[in-house]
Amino acid sequence: MLAQIIFAVCLGVAAFFIFKSIKRIYRNINLGKAFDPKGNTSERLKKMLLIAFGQKKMFDRPIPALLHLFIYVGFMIVNIEMLEIAIDGLFGTHRVFAPILGKAYPFVINVFEFFAVAVIIVCIVFLIRRNILKISRFHKPELTKWPLLDANLILTFEIVLMFAFLNMNATDLTLQEKGSEHYFATGNFFFSGLIKDLYNNASVTGLIIAERTYWWIHIIGVMIFANYLPYSKHLHILLAFPNTYFSNLDPAGKFKNMPIVTNEVKSMLGLPVENTEAVDPNAPMRFGAKDVQDLTWKNLLDAYTCTECGRCTSVCPANLTGKKLSPRKIMMDTRDRAEEIGTIIDTKGKFEDDGKSLYSDTYISKEELLACTSCNACVDACPVNINPLEIIIDLRRYMIMEESKAPNSWNAMFGNIENNQAPWKFSSNDRLNWKELL
Ligand code: SF4
Ligand code: SF4
Repeated sequence: MLAQIIFAVCLGVAAFFIFKSIKRIYRNINLGKAFDPKGNTSERLKKMLLIAFGQKKMFDRPIPALLHLFIYVGFMIVNIEMLEIAIDGLFGTHRVFAPILGKAYPFVINVFEFFAVAVIIVCIVFLIRRNILKISRFHKPELTKWPLLDANLILTFEIVLMFAFLNMNATDLTLQEKGSEHYFATGNFFFSGLIKDLYNNASVTGLIIAERTYWWIHIIGVMIFANYLPYSKHLHILLAFPNTYFSNLDPAGKFKNMPIVTNEVKSMLGLPVENTEAVDPNAPMRFGAKDVQDLTWKNLLDAYTCTECGRCTSVCPANLTGKKLSPRKIMMDTRDRAEEIGTIIDTKGKFEDDGKSLYSDTYISKEELLACTSCNACVDACPVNINPLEIIIDLRRYMIMEESKAPNSWNAMFGNIENNQAPWKFSSNDRLNWKELL
């Protein structure tokens, strides 16, 4: 009975803190401005199923994709076992589904065990890839300290959970063989059966203690994992679904015009001006984005969904040619700044200017913004449809239109576009002069 009470309390505490974290992340994402995802629900659902559930874009690189799939499917499937563990923990039963499923029970556990072994092997391979093999995208300046520790922690965590699960089954099998009361015959489990001989010399009491310890490690481990998730890049396990659902459906690379500028240009050209935006007279007028509150909530959802895989950075021409820009860092900085503002709100009750902003040397600098070629390669490469380019463009708009910090060569180009309708310094009247030479 005491164990049941402790279990129920642990479950309640874990659920309470998970709920608090969900509230915090929801509030932080909503620091962003409104975003109209525009209709077409079936196209969005299709995208979500293919990209988040089917992991379609991961298969651009088949071997890591296959390994990742093992972890993803394995982790989901093995955690179905949590249902039985939770019922046993709350009601004091033991393997409650065994009598219900009968002969199917060992088959189900064998499937779980197969994936548990696969998860252990893949996690070890991933640890080696990250820490020993010098894969360039895992060795960038933004991927040191906490981000590196976070990746290693979660892989180690998964190994410990799967190890506890297999050993819990192995000690259970040994107790069954020794005819211990309470540990009734369930049928053989293949993978834990291979290691059960390790426990042959243990006493029944020792085995019961070991089996209960592995049981508690597994369940408490999962509760800690669920609470750690909101602080980790592994939140993408959940957020990949809404993020792909709200993906941009416009043609790749199409920029979103600023209606106020579009209208200005149209009125200069004598074209009819569209009333595309209801303007709040009290809202501070700002071109582009200086801080996370100037971005949309979808940009912030992108930031919280980023897996820090670095696929975007590995195809970014600016990064490949040694520039400071890394689209992965753009997303990591955006999330860190949203978290920082969230902490201010938590401590002071509301946001008070802290003298910092996303566009700054602390987070995303002018040097990084100027390096972007707006080629869209990062957006195309992202396995969960994140758009770093949209954030770069918005920050760059602020930098140029509010702070007039464009390089001189860009200012000359802007002047040419304004006067000659082309980036070059020749008059548009001379544009067809080349015909004279034919
Ligand atoms: S759009 Fe910019 S950040 Fe993205 S890959 Fe191209 S240069 Fe890099
Ligand atoms: S933006 Fe996408 S591709 Fe880049 S690190 Fe994040 S998840 Fe990976």
